[in-house]
Amino acid sequence: MSTEKGTISIHTENIFPVIKKFLYSDNEIFLRELVSNAVDASQKIKRLSSLGQFNGEVGELVVDVKFDEEAKTITISDNGIGMTAEEIKKYINQIAFSGATEFMEKFKEANDANEIIGRFGLGFYSAFMVADKVEIDSLSYQDGAEAAHWVCDGSTSYEISVGTRTTRGTDVILHINEDSKEFLSKFRLQEILDKYAKFLPVQVRFGTKTSSEPDGEDEEGKPKYKSVEVDNIINNTNPAWTKAPSELKDEDYLAFYRELYPNTFDEPLFWIHLNVDYPFNLTGILYFPKIKNELEIQRNKIKLYSRQVFITDEVKDIVPEYLMLLHGVIDSPDIPLNVSRSFLQADGNVKKISNYITKKVADKLQEIFKSDRKGFEEKWNDIGLFIKYGMLSEEKFAEKANEFCLVKNTEGENYTIKEYYEKVKDINADKDGNIVYLYTSDAAQQDGFIANAKAKGYDVLVLDGPLDTHFASYLEQKGGEKVQLKRVDSDVIDKLIQKDEKIELTLSEEESKKASELFTKAINRTDMNVQVEALAADELPVSVTLDEFMRRMKDMAKTGGGMGFYGNLPDNYKVTVNGNHPLVKRIVESSEEEAEKLAKQAFDLALLSRGLLTGADLTSFVKRSVEMI
Ligand code: ADP
Repeated sequence: MSTEKGTISIHTENIFPVIKKFLYSDNEIFLRELVSNAVDASQKIKRLSSLGQFNGEVGELVVDVKFDEEAKTITISDNGIGMTAEEIKKYINQIAFSGATEFMEKFKEANDANEIIGRFGLGFYSAFMVADKVEIDSLSYQDGAEAAHWVCDGSTSYEISVGTRTTRGTDVILHINEDSKEFLSKFRLQEILDKYAKFLPVQVRFGTKTSSEPDGEDEEGKPKYKSVEVDNIINNTNPAWTKAPSELKDEDYLAFYRELYPNTFDEPLFWIHLNVDYPFNLTGILYFPKIKNELEIQRNKIKLYSRQVFITDEVKDIVPEYLMLLHGVIDSPDIPLNVSRSFLQADGNVKKISNYITKKVADKLQEIFKSDRKGFEEKWNDIGLFIKYGMLSEEKFAEKANEFCLVKNTEGENYTIKEYYEKVKDINADKDGNIVYLYTSDAAQQDGFIANAKAKGYDVLVLDGPLDTHFASYLEQKGGEKVQLKRVDSDVIDKLIQKDEKIELTLSEEESKKASELFTKAINRTDMNVQVEALAADELPVSVTLDEFMRRMKDMAKTGGGMGFYGNLPDNYKVTVNGNHPLVKRIVESSEEEAEKLAKQAFDLALLSRGLLTGADLTSFVKRSVEMI
């Protein structure tokens, strides 16, 4: 074959400067593209051999990545199928550029390098993001094939001639450009390979590394070690998710978790092995981490692969929002990775995949709940937040999760939503048939209110997680008929659950008015609304409560529930004065000075029991108390 020169057939004069410039930010993916091509070529020879179309020795398949700082080259070599000169012309010159015209028209719309490279079949040409000259040296597996050498300097012309390679396979040699010298570094290349190539199905070797090896024993009989240089193999070619679940034990799943997240020390709680091939192809393992109370920092832990090539850990558009708290791997060649975000969201496969994952997760949780309720309850602290998040954000998930979502009362007992309804539907019912779920957001701080509720025989739920304000509203809508949620400190207990029996007010109308005025004056605060009410004589003389509705709206505003308007309102407390308490009667009948002192004292006690009495108010309360003893 004589040297042949030609022009890469595209209409546009020079596409490379455009590729280079446009793709600059993501340019490290050149290595992913070239190593994946080398892996593909290696797998092809294996397949041809197993099909009987190649009768030679396949040998050990290895992709080598090397660099030469002085010569400024990076070389990716494989012993795969190789290419003849004809094939290079066909695959590299023409096919890769069939989309180039379209590319030139559309590149302005594209969002990132991934998108362009995949959409326009420019995988190989991503080399020009970092190189100003690229060479291919290849020898095809075919009998009697001649080695071919191709070189292109980043313009649209190339040169093809007889090559020097004597063994089957391909070398791609990149002459790294001035701007990309960062890639001529062992550290940087190792980093990129760790990111993209860690689980590729064919061995990827990057030089050697030092390892220690047993070396007999010393005089005292202790084992000795010596340093040896061994191949630095980047990848585990057989990661857990590609195996059948029946092949794997718990230790294997845990070991794989550590392999994925070497810097995470917590063990996952449990996992789901995903494995479908119809109507889409998807494998993977999802782990349930211990979530605790932090929602934000857990994100972006699911890694997305396509045939074991790492693509991204931004899975926002593929995995439902709440599932992003999970860890693990999803591998699917059916996720269109190279199209725009909006297209992805509308893509049928992506929707199906997302639904599938949701269903799998719900099924797994249900299975654990059914087979080991006690274990499930023990894990609740770690998974409850996740499940509630799922229920609040996805109806399909909520439908299933309703059966295993737990609520806990102040006694530490766990109930499903339905069980709880059954438990309290009679005892916590008010005169109008509403079933009032009393709850506390802070059992220590609201202890007095809880004690009052319990004294009346009511049950109190603990809803103290970061999503529980929203979850309270969820229970109201979906937790059963006529269910109302009221925080235990949002009013006095007889107002929270109103029963039929009417308590008469022992104060006369005039006395009641006087009590109200006295207290308002003594308290002297605009955020406190005094109301004199007829409660049982043994109830506290004064209680301070924060209305359920307002408080919940404000809480929701805080956690991003779109109640911004309420978030800006000041707190407004209700001061309930128990008109039937002997102290109140005494206050009404006391001298003005004495009345003010007693009213203030009773009010301060109410504040104190809520942890609201602080600073100078607390100091003067203590002083006043001492005087009074
Ligand atoms: P894609 O990989 O998406 O097909 P590329 O531009 O990366 O697009 O590669 C074009 C074609 O060139 C490949 O489909 C393959 O046939 C051929 N090719 C690329 N690299 C190699 C290689 N290392 N060995 C053999 N063939 C290769």
